[in-house]
Amino acid sequence: MKNYLAIDQGTTSSRSIIFNTKLEKIYDSQKEYNLSYPNDGWVELNPDDVIRTVEETLKDVLLKCSDVEACGITNQRETTIVWSKETGEPIYPGIVWQDRRTSAHCDDLKLKGHEELVRSKTGLVLDPYFSATKIKWILDNVDGAREQAKKGKLAFGTIDSYLIYKLSSEQNHFTDVTNASRTLLFNIHEMCWDQELLDIFDIPSSMLPTVLPCDGDFGTIVHEGNKIPIKGVIGDQQGALVGQNCFSNGDMKSTYGTGCFLMVNTKEKPIHIKEGLLTTVGYKINGEVCYAIEGSIYSCGNIIQWLRDKMKFFNDAKESEKFLSNSGNSNNVLFLPAFNGLGAPFWDSDIRGGLHGITQDTSIEDIVTAAFHSITFQTKEITDILENNDIEINKLLVDGGMAANETFCQVLSDTLQKVIIRPEDIESTALGACKVAMIASGETATELEGENRAFNPNNALQKIYEDGLNEWRSYVKTNLS
Ligand code: ADP
Repeated sequence: MKNYLAIDQGTTSSRSIIFNTKLEKIYDSQKEYNLSYPNDGWVELNPDDVIRTVEETLKDVLLKCSDVEACGITNQRETTIVWSKETGEPIYPGIVWQDRRTSAHCDDLKLKGHEELVRSKTGLVLDPYFSATKIKWILDNVDGAREQAKKGKLAFGTIDSYLIYKLSSEQNHFTDVTNASRTLLFNIHEMCWDQELLDIFDIPSSMLPTVLPCDGDFGTIVHEGNKIPIKGVIGDQQGALVGQNCFSNGDMKSTYGTGCFLMVNTKEKPIHIKEGLLTTVGYKINGEVCYAIEGSIYSCGNIIQWLRDKMKFFNDAKESEKFLSNSGNSNNVLFLPAFNGLGAPFWDSDIRGGLHGITQDTSIEDIVTAAFHSITFQTKEITDILENNDIEINKLLVDGGMAANETFCQVLSDTLQKVIIRPEDIESTALGACKVAMIASGETATELEGENRAFNPNNALQKIYEDGLNEWRSYVKTNLS
């Protein structure tokens, strides 16, 4: 049996996993790293931490098994790095997808009337979340950067690009279609960088990486004399789509990691839903482009981290489960999960988080339950929009770190009144990257044999959650900017 390597570079950690051709996990190494929050709404990472943690985990697994056929990379999307083509060094920290510093710039572009053109070409909304305004911010705010860029001396990349550049012996400046489709610079219908968009965002085309399909040839990692071809690259959410075998029209998954991202495969049709959902490239594999609809929720697992690290309610994310009520009752406490504004369907950069309804009687359980409800309610906002647009939802596949929490999965099922299916291995993102590399190497990536767990909705709780959602909606509305 052959072995494949998946590198999963996430917002909170980097992982390397070796799978066999039956998609069984053989070796796994994970290293966390810290983000920094230098200003209100700013979120940065140190690119050296990304490379260091990836290299450490690579070393760990390759020490145990160096016989690896090919590698697939999956990564946090949109996070923006600009580096010097001469030295290979970044000229500024990575600006993370959650960062809101360019919100005034986005408002200005909307005022100038660019929103509809940008949407029609990219499938995205004009929001600081995506890479384009982050790139321009770096060019405008780092000394000499704009000049250097004009001379063709700077490179831009999302995390996949930067990893390929640093890890491939050829120092390739490449990206894949899924990551490109999150920059606001990529025309998803023509599947290429778009000069009109580059002009609007004031970004020189010389900075951009070459775009390949997910199953392209991205270069070779040379590790202790071993050559490992990079044969798959896919953004993390699209990776989970592939990892969960969502290959048919209407298949959908929701990944609960730092943020939550619900995605529906719409095959060859880029479907536009006007109520704040995105149209994006699902994948391009074997020459076939598939599109997806996406509902992006910014704050999800990071809420649990905040309850752990700042509120000190528990020491481990796992312990949050003990405090989560499964009866739909948060004692009227409402939680507004807007640490970095709100994503779908609100798209409000300036709103910040809040707690409402606190009394002398409020307990840690009430606050934790309200925090979890804010995640399930946001998911319900998205599933309601999908159903209103005639997208049928029979079941929802879930994955990501939070899906380990069974009470959460049950509360999600009761709130949505849908069957929730959780695979045995919730690392669907890495599995997706491995599958792409396998397909690119000529293997058939069959389904992982494992025990899926189904969570069935309790109809008796339907009304309680409906009322809770309505109250939560009103609370959010009064806070929107
Ligand atoms: P990412 O890929 O975005 O780095 P992961 O999919 O690794 O994220 O998930 C990590 C997130 O899941 C963390 O934010 C953590 O707080 C949350 N998490 C992990 N386990 C649990 C749990 N049992 N209950 C609730 N949240 C959890």
